[in-house]
Amino acid sequence: MKDKIVLITGGSRGIGKAVAETLATAGALVVITARTQNELDQTAKEIRAKNGRVLALAADVTDYDQLLELKQTVHQQLGKLDIAVINAGVIEPVNPGWKCDARTWQKNIDINLSGAFLTTHVALNDMVEKGSGTIIFISSGAASHPVAGWSAYCAAKAGVDHLNRTLAHELSQADLDIKTYSVYPGIVSTAMQEVIRTKTREEFPSVERFRGYYENDMLRSPQDPANLILWLCKTNPDHLNGQVVSIDEDSIRTQMAKDLGIEKPQSR
Ligand code: NAP
Repeated sequence: MKDKIVLITGGSRGIGKAVAETLATAGALVVITARTQNELDQTAKEIRAKNGRVLALAADVTDYDQLLELKQTVHQQLGKLDIAVINAGVIEPVNPGWKCDARTWQKNIDINLSGAFLTTHVALNDMVEKGSGTIIFISSGAASHPVAGWSAYCAAKAGVDHLNRTLAHELSQADLDIKTYSVYPGIVSTAMQEVIRTKTREEFPSVERFRGYYENDMLRSPQDPANLILWLCKTNPDHLNGQVVSIDEDSIRTQMAKDLGIEKPQSR
């Protein structure tokens, strides 16, 4: 990972923060982005305290102009991107489709799907110029299983998985050495899960199950998906190009632990 330039959206907290810390520790130059500058600054301070190299630049992934400005700053200060971890995301609205706020639904797609594409577009141009690169999307079980109360999130994540497949297909047809993966991170202890647990049963019929995951210590640490992403960045596996790569798959956890020389993450 030495000197690889990596963009991580939603890098201020949760899974994105763990990815930024992990890749910086492995020698990468990480660029973290999110909307809230003070949260980004705090994360950057923690990374620098461990001798990591990091740029913390605020941008909203729904605003293409802000993303282009961010890219210009990255070019001036570091160079062209090698890797992008497309992680920024929101869960709201949580309510059945006929009850939820339609504009919040649209905003969810703007962030989770259109925002994922806009960031990918910015990063891909760098990778095409460099002749190589890696794009990693963050998927969810909600991409393939309907979850009552989460129609926007489910639709957006299904879109992200198919964007991943389609891009991998386009890139390999064009003979470009750029790999794309969609990572399923498990159910992870982050602010997003805190929001989910505040919902009523009417808004989210499965809320008690999710409260149970927390009460019974069944949530994954953000470090597990961060290690999976480090493994993908380091090994760029051909056979997983364009695929959904799940932390819940035993063979994936076994291989990543072996290659990284770490303890195998538990099944959950
Ligand atoms: P989180 O702790 O709430 O972090 C979300 C990150 O995204 C924050 O940095 C947030 O910062 C940023 N963000 C949100 N909207 C943004 C926007 N418009 N522009 C730029 N940044 C934005 O959530 P998390 O659980 O770590 O989630 C990270 C990813 O994992 C998401 O894609 C999520 O869908 C996925 N995921 C999570 C779980 C889980 O169990 N936690 C499971 C499956 C998938 P600002 O609010 O400051 O912008």
